[in-house]
Amino acid sequence: MTGPAGTVLSGTGSDAGPTGADWAAAVDAVRQVPADGRVLLICHVNPDGDALGSMLGFGLGLRRLGVRRLQATFPGPPEVPEPFHGLPGLDLLVPASEAYPDPDLVVCFDAASASRLGDLVDRLATAGTALVLDHHASNTRFGGIHLVDPAAAATSVVVEGLLDRLGVPLDAGIAECLYVALTTDTGSFRFEATTPAVHEMAARLLATGIRPGDISRRIFDHRPFGAVRLFGEVLGRARLEPSAAGGRGLVWTYATLDDLARHGQRPYVLEALIDSVRCTAEADVSCVVKQVAAEEWAVSLRSKGAVDVSRVAVALGGGGHRFAAGFTGRGTADEVVERIRGQLDDAVIGGGDQEDQRRVSVFPR
Ligand code: 5GP
Ligand code: MN
Repeated sequence: MTGPAGTVLSGTGSDAGPTGADWAAAVDAVRQVPADGRVLLICHVNPDGDALGSMLGFGLGLRRLGVRRLQATFPGPPEVPEPFHGLPGLDLLVPASEAYPDPDLVVCFDAASASRLGDLVDRLATAGTALVLDHHASNTRFGGIHLVDPAAAATSVVVEGLLDRLGVPLDAGIAECLYVALTTDTGSFRFEATTPAVHEMAARLLATGIRPGDISRRIFDHRPFGAVRLFGEVLGRARLEPSAAGGRGLVWTYATLDDLARHGQRPYVLEALIDSVRCTAEADVSCVVKQVAAEEWAVSLRSKGAVDVSRVAVALGGGGHRFAAGFTGRGTADEVVERIRGQLDDAVIGGGDQEDQRRVSVFPR
């Protein structure tokens, strides 16, 4: 099923955001936590700016409400990527192994499916209430109460809505977390999801006095020299396949654990690589295949609009949005890319940057 924006829909099969009853249930779930109740906040594995920013921003809000027994965590290694080391609320984080086994309330951020929660998935069953905050159209409604808004540019938009309904005013700490989340998922206000409402939310966040220049530099424009050299090497081996995706074009590259080791870099530095690859004018679809274990690869997919990459990712066991999606691939990097090629033709939805360029090119004559 395809929604108005071309997004692949599953779960409820609806593009509609939370209803009034959903918001009321979420507010009640938070208000009903007993004075000494335990609240556990969790986000998806390999957390990005939206996952961490939404989770910590909400955590700081709960703290303002007086919730004292409060933890935040995510599955996998208990390691926060360096760009996020300045985020307010980091003191809420605990390793997944130390997270409350049976919290009164668990709140889950930016995860489209339970599989994104790794070992923490059991908390959905052991918690008194499971509240899910997300913005993926493909969200599988795996909790008890769902605030899922596919029209929201980031999960942090949903977080702001819930904090507002809980009567928590924005302070600079909360605002910085939500701003990091919003800028991450809108590509610093460049992507299609950048609506007037997004700029209005940004204005509310900036009004708390946070410094957007400092925040953006820390999150997006700051990496070790070794990472710059690593990018050079990995971009140097990129391949352009103009005939892929029904002629819309594919550009892709890969990075191995050995590449990381040779340049002395941590895996998170590769998260920004797709932004350099996706600039390629000759391709609608871009892809970075990042090794995470011997035969395991984290795959990032991006589209300029002619291809719905979430269809490709869902077909290969992952998820995401029309313009940005991902999945975990097994085997060799070549095998993973071959599987992507095999899904691309079915994911072509027309339109996109390249067709715009073809139209423009007839003008000057
Ligand atoms: P990124 O390429 O930045 O890692 O991910 C882009 C988007 O794809 C994310 O926002 C997320 O929605 C989705 N995504 C990435 N990797 C996976 C995955 O392994 N499984 C699922 N379900 N979604 C993913
Ligand atoms: Mn997100």
